[in-house]
Amino acid sequence: MADIPTQARVVVIGGGAVGASCLYHLAKAGWRDCVLLEKNELTAGSTWHAAGNVPTFSSSWSIMNMQRYSTELYRGLGAAVDYPMNYHVTGSIRLAHSKERMQEFARAVGMGRSQGMALELLGPDEIRAKYPFLETHDLAGALYDPADGDIDPAQLTQALAKGARDMGAKVLRFTPATGIRRENGEWIVRTEKGEIRCEIVVNAAGYYAQRVGEWFRPYGGRRVPMMVMSHQYLLSEEIPEIEAWTKAAGHKLPLLRDVDSSYYLRQEKHGFNLGPYERHGRAHWADPSDPMPEDFSFQLYPDDLDRLEWYVEDAMARVPLLGQAGISKIINGPIPYAPDGNPLLGPMPGVPNAFEACVFTFGIAQGGGAGKVLAEWVTEGGTEWDMWSCDPRRFTGYADHDYCVAKGMEVYGHEYGMHFPHARWPAGPDKRLSKLHSRLKEAGAAFGAYNGWERANWFAKPGDDTSWEAAQTWERAGPWEDRIAEECAAVRDHCGVLAITGFTRLAVEGAGARGFVDGLTCSTLPRVGRVGLAYFPDHRGRIVTGMSVIPRSDDEIWLITAGTAQWHDGELLSRQAPDGIAVHDRSDKYDCLLVTGPKAREVLAPITDADLTLPWLSMQEATVAGCEVVLLRVSFAGELGWEVHCLMDDAPAVWDAVTAAGARPFGMWALNSLRMEKGYRAWKGDLSTDYSVLQGGLERFVNWGKDFPGKAALLAEKQAGVAKRFAVLTVDAPVADAPYMANLWLGDTIVGEVTSSAWGYRVGACVALGMLRADLVQPGQPLELEIYGERRPAVVRGEGALWDPGNERLRA
Ligand SMILES: Cc1cc2nc3c(=O)[nH]c(=O)nc-3n(C[C@H](O)[C@H](O)[C@H](O)COP(=O)(O)OP(=O)(O)OC[C@H]3O[C@@H](n4cnc5c(N)ncnc54)[C@H](O)[C@@H]3O)c2cc1C
Repeated sequence: MADIPTQARVVVIGGGAVGASCLYHLAKAGWRDCVLLEKNELTAGSTWHAAGNVPTFSSSWSIMNMQRYSTELYRGLGAAVDYPMNYHVTGSIRLAHSKERMQEFARAVGMGRSQGMALELLGPDEIRAKYPFLETHDLAGALYDPADGDIDPAQLTQALAKGARDMGAKVLRFTPATGIRRENGEWIVRTEKGEIRCEIVVNAAGYYAQRVGEWFRPYGGRRVPMMVMSHQYLLSEEIPEIEAWTKAAGHKLPLLRDVDSSYYLRQEKHGFNLGPYERHGRAHWADPSDPMPEDFSFQLYPDDLDRLEWYVEDAMARVPLLGQAGISKIINGPIPYAPDGNPLLGPMPGVPNAFEACVFTFGIAQGGGAGKVLAEWVTEGGTEWDMWSCDPRRFTGYADHDYCVAKGMEVYGHEYGMHFPHARWPAGPDKRLSKLHSRLKEAGAAFGAYNGWERANWFAKPGDDTSWEAAQTWERAGPWEDRIAEECAAVRDHCGVLAITGFTRLAVEGAGARGFVDGLTCSTLPRVGRVGLAYFPDHRGRIVTGMSVIPRSDDEIWLITAGTAQWHDGELLSRQAPDGIAVHDRSDKYDCLLVTGPKAREVLAPITDADLTLPWLSMQEATVAGCEVVLLRVSFAGELGWEVHCLMDDAPAVWDAVTAAGARPFGMWALNSLRMEKGYRAWKGDLSTDYSVLQGGLERFVNWGKDFPGKAALLAEKQAGVAKRFAVLTVDAPVADAPYMANLWLGDTIVGEVTSSAWGYRVGACVALGMLRADLVQPGQPLELEIYGERRPAVVRGEGALWDPGNERLRA
């Protein structure tokens, strides 16, 4: 029987590639007193049968970072821990069937370049030079990723475990965790062999994560949002031509991905490994007729070749050599999916001292980076890269079982799908509907989901094409463009109304509530009767969040923040609240209508008893259309305006009155354009933990005269000089707006990146917000902005608003 320790600093539940990497990185960070529990042998979950592909490509900046780190780690790991392993860095070729796919690739080349990687675009001849067995006549080109390759997943896991053990951590195999409880601020993890008392627990249980997650429900946890797909790959028999080519070349063929046909094709020994992501895949363990077994260690699902027929034929047409060989083996195993296909990596929502590193769809490629991220969360309380894309708190209560299954099926079926900026993936709609929904629909709303709430993105007119097909473009132009222009014009010249359903609303209540909130923000809290914007840095001075603060008294503070920030910002407050101070989440109780534009006063005057002469940033209670409301004189659109906060049930009456008085509906995409012209930042786009408060250009929100988290770090940064700064630019970009993290160039040097971009209809230019080398943040500074591979002229306009820089229209 293994020697069970009774005490550990961290217990990691699950010994797949990800759990082992967590343990390794914890130990590497100096937290050696950690234990990993594995119910069976290491790798018994999804890891043992993984194909082992290790790409760096991703359309997500943070996932690319994680995967890049993995490739760097894996290259030196065998030597570092003295555990030789099979890691073939073969490079990969991703085929493009269309112009749009090449644009996606060009964007990845740009992101890769700024992360120090040399991804490159290939034309058909260059493809054939690297991969002679390929039909290229119908291709638009390809992406070459020189760092891609394949690794033996079992060896990888063993190497990480060995490295962790060598540093003093413990790996207990055949030791299932059977439950947990909390005692005196510590966790007790139960096993069949004894109990372990620890500070922190990590759920790294792969496709069992939901089951392990249930133990945390009594301590504030939720049902882990996930489902399980079956994924198959076929191994072919050996092919003499491949053997001969490999011998002559001295290396394996590059890994091939035909992403538009949806499969990978990798050389395995002298044959092939073909792994399709079928459009209509198969979910497992998703309903009571197919219960998940107690134990599935080292097991597979039965083969289901029929499902793969189309893909096999397609691959044989692409690489005719494949047709020469029979199938030698089929692997059909479970892959867990979160609703967006990204893992759950970070603090466990609602539960103290518990983390998740689970539900990995690409856990071999991401495992290395994931261990680093998890260890940073645990040991430092924050991560080097902003990891919101993987943060478990991004899914809140709406992500129920049906949603998870529908979304998981959709993501699997479009694993290589392109994520166009104006397209909405259709599965799992209507999770949260406001009382205005039918009215918005009647007005032509094309909806988007915001923390599960359906909000209008834009309003179509009869005859406008709102189809999925119309949105399959990276370009700005589309059926929405004229409508957005009209909506922005209405807000500029008259008055618009936007239903911003699903704002996060938090109320901090109890004696000393003001002092408590004040201690968490670097900003000065407004006085009662006023609204203020407050930024919340972490201990490094990085931007964790920004919230609108509305003090009701010293003992009651309201905070309003982004819908998607609901659990993130709620926990920022609740986890630190002392005894006697409670944080209430009232997000579901109220709705908000933004009534804004130069005629907003005239629209509201006949239907409200409010004092509409109160100044910008004032707050008052009043009635609108006979309904009790709170009026905040703020407008993210940058015009005269009020946010009308009312009970959900009263929203239709307020909407009817406001629209009858002449306000014209506008949507979130118009708001996005309008806010950018004002230089207003969006959370987790322009505002993230990738940047410090000073880099974000937010010093005017910093009260140096008080204590706050990160003050010392920010003072030090100020003294040393801020290296990178927020900047507003205009871009000569007639076709497409820049995607997130597009490169800013000065000559041949990358000098910054764009965090958001859109056409500004009031200023008549493409506007970009971004982060730039500080010395270049000078009005008039010419640069170039790389948009889907094309460098477009850009000009730095400064740090402030392009529209109404003096805020006169807001103050009108
Ligand atoms: C056919 C197939 C091919 C794939 N190919 C690739 C690929 O090429 N590249 C890639 O990146 N990914 C691939 N994947 C996905 C990859 O396998 C997973 O993402 C990865 O293995 C997940 O690792 P993990 O450590 O998170 O989970 P797992 O490997 O599932 O590990 C979780 C571990 O937790 C243990 N556990 C569960 N409950 C308990 C408990 N109560 N107590 C103790 N231990 C417990 C389990 O036994 C298991 O060992 C593939 C998957 C499949 C099915």
